[in-house]
Amino acid sequence: MFIAANWKMNLDKKSISEYAKFLQKFKFSDKVETCIFPPTIYIDYLHSLINDLPISIGGQNCHYKTSGAFTGEISPNFLRDTGCKYVIIGHSERRIINNENNAEIKLRAEAALNSSLKVILCVGETLIDRQEGKALQFIEKQINDCLPDNYENLLIAYEPIWSIGTGKIPSVFEIEEMHTHIKKIINKFVNKKINVIYGGSVNIKNINEILDITNVDGVLVGGASLKAKDFLAIYSAAVKYLNIS
Ligand code: PEP
Repeated sequence: MFIAANWKMNLDKKSISEYAKFLQKFKFSDKVETCIFPPTIYIDYLHSLINDLPISIGGQNCHYKTSGAFTGEISPNFLRDTGCKYVIIGHSERRIINNENNAEIKLRAEAALNSSLKVILCVGETLIDRQEGKALQFIEKQINDCLPDNYENLLIAYEPIWSIGTGKIPSVFEIEEMHTHIKKIINKFVNKKINVIYGGSVNIKNINEILDITNVDGVLVGGASLKAKDFLAIYSAAVKYLNIS
């Protein structure tokens, strides 16, 4: 079970320091893996505050080259060097705002894997695709186009674009259908279990229902991860879920 916090472009040094105080008081379980994705500039700072805790730190993106004339970009080697274990690749905000296409996302994922990072590859359909009944087809193409050659350290995050930050989530049936679909597509390439986590408006009210869905191996949390109390409540729900099931 994997619970991830994507802070996006939020939380400054002072808020991170307050957040870390909450984390320091919390009792973590060895059954649930967790990773925080802070703004890149604060990776070292967060690390210095929580490096004694069983929490991984990850980058929100990385470039497909390890060095060179790429002003403003982040090398996967730099993430690794600052102690990151994971990186998110292909988040819909990067795809939409920064025009990252499937081919580029595949390159970024491969570069990250070559730099010994674990990759969370995000896929997700638009509302129109969902309404027109094309969601399964859309995700299949995204996976076929973005899937890196090495599957060892790969997780997929199913994040319907229309669900991110909107408070709307797919039905239990739709999430289960999509996660099962994603696993089947990947099994065509490799006979190995790949974890698929769900992201999109996960919060303390819907977490129990989401975790109970077949083929959901964890969650990627955006907005609700910005308050330590809420994120830890989501984490605790995962621990409780594992202890009961
Ligand atoms: C995200 O952006 O990865 C995300 C899941 O955001 P939110 O939880 O705010 O919908």
